[in-house]
Amino acid sequence: MKSVISNSLKLTLTVLFISSLSFTACSNKEEELNRFLNKIETQYENIAIDLGEAYWNFYSAEGEADLKTPKDKFYNLLINDTLNTLIETWYPKRAEIKDSMLTRRVEKWHDVLLSAKVEYNAEILELRNDLEKMLEMSNKEDETENDLEAKMLKLIELRNKKSIELGYDNYVHLSFETNGLGYKWFLNFIEEMDNSTINAYKALIEEAKTNQSVEQFGQRNAYQFIGQFYGNSSPSELNIEDNIELVKISLNNIGINYTELPAILVEEKLPAGIGGQGLMIDVPNDFRAVMTLGMDASVWMHEMGHGLHGLFNSINNPILEGYEWIPGNANPSFAEGMAETITWFTRNTEWQKKYSNLNEEQILKRKETVKKYAPAFIRFHIFNFLKETELYLHPEKSYEEIQTELAKKYLFIETEEIRTQGLENIIYVSYPLYLQNYLIADMVASQIHKTLETEFGKDYAFNNEVGAYLTKYFYSTGEYYNWNDRLKHGTGSELDVKAYIDFYQIK
Ligand SMILES: [Zn+2]
Repeated sequence: MKSVISNSLKLTLTVLFISSLSFTACSNKEEELNRFLNKIETQYENIAIDLGEAYWNFYSAEGEADLKTPKDKFYNLLINDTLNTLIETWYPKRAEIKDSMLTRRVEKWHDVLLSAKVEYNAEILELRNDLEKMLEMSNKEDETENDLEAKMLKLIELRNKKSIELGYDNYVHLSFETNGLGYKWFLNFIEEMDNSTINAYKALIEEAKTNQSVEQFGQRNAYQFIGQFYGNSSPSELNIEDNIELVKISLNNIGINYTELPAILVEEKLPAGIGGQGLMIDVPNDFRAVMTLGMDASVWMHEMGHGLHGLFNSINNPILEGYEWIPGNANPSFAEGMAETITWFTRNTEWQKKYSNLNEEQILKRKETVKKYAPAFIRFHIFNFLKETELYLHPEKSYEEIQTELAKKYLFIETEEIRTQGLENIIYVSYPLYLQNYLIADMVASQIHKTLETEFGKDYAFNNEVGAYLTKYFYSTGEYYNWNDRLKHGTGSELDVKAYIDFYQIK
């Protein structure tokens, strides 16, 4: 109690002190901060564009992919002393800044610099580059694999070590501090999702046991559930074969003219192992996506969703445009939510009636199957992302132990033969602690589509005002608002876990 009083007294004194200073002194300092950040952000954006171009070459094989030069430039920019000192000084007193845009920039820079202290630490960056190269090669020898595993463990250890040095319990705590979700939120989220799906999931197991005379519920049975979910939610029997054409038509239906956008979608045969990628190279002026042959239409819609999110961003400030290259800049769960919101048009009944050969009865039957297996989908996601977080939270456990424990806890696998995966996962290297974003994205998309139906009626997938609606509430302001505020502005509430559970009618 005592310390609280003395703290608040200190605060009052500080406030009095500051307000007794002249206003101009304060605003001059703000102007100085603004000018310095403008300069740094111009550099930041140029490097982001270079890195985007390099990744484009990496995926499309259009040219030589030099990832190293822009990464080195980022490194030099992010360790800039003046920048770090300024943000450290302003961040605690950001509430005093009069220009709310500047306040938000300080917050974003704080997150970017904090996460860069880990990801752009010289030793970690080198190990990451090393691992990215190793994972790119196919036909690994056994020896390389051992080496890979040791290096992966080293990367995890270093990320934890660096986070502890920065005052966090471990890397998970630091990462959730900078990704916009918060660790406490994350824990509550898992608990709520677990509790809401446990009964329905157990009922699925019982049903499988009875109908398929399964004695002990195994991993293969669980994966069959997930297969049912995906098999019935991804578009089927489409009557337009060209995926790019389908994207263009779907956008046109909601009032977005693809041909006027600075966007390129290409389909071409890519080297083995590369499915494709959408890249927001220059926000809001240049979006490109390349996919290998035969990718699902929903994947194209997903990537185009990322594109729209960037192309209709009119905030015109590099750090608030939310480039994806440095963790902490954009909110990745919201970004994935924007991508899935476009994918979800392919799940819309009216859309399917028009663009697939399925009749209404078949469409509804598929939807029922999706709902039935949704608890398995949700629990599989929890299993999948916790597999990675546990590596950081429990470095004393082996990856095998972690997977076995989680398979029992979330998937209720009863057999002892649980096939586990190795650590060699490029996502763990390049996009650490990213996987929960895909579950949150499904929730974001479901919430937005529910609102669209309420606002524009059941034919909303063919209403040409929908594009403008998405732009106004979700694309235009970039990272200026917190992700949950963006959802609130556009749908009337923050991320609503209960509504999501209701959407799939999970009981
Ligand atoms: Zn995505």
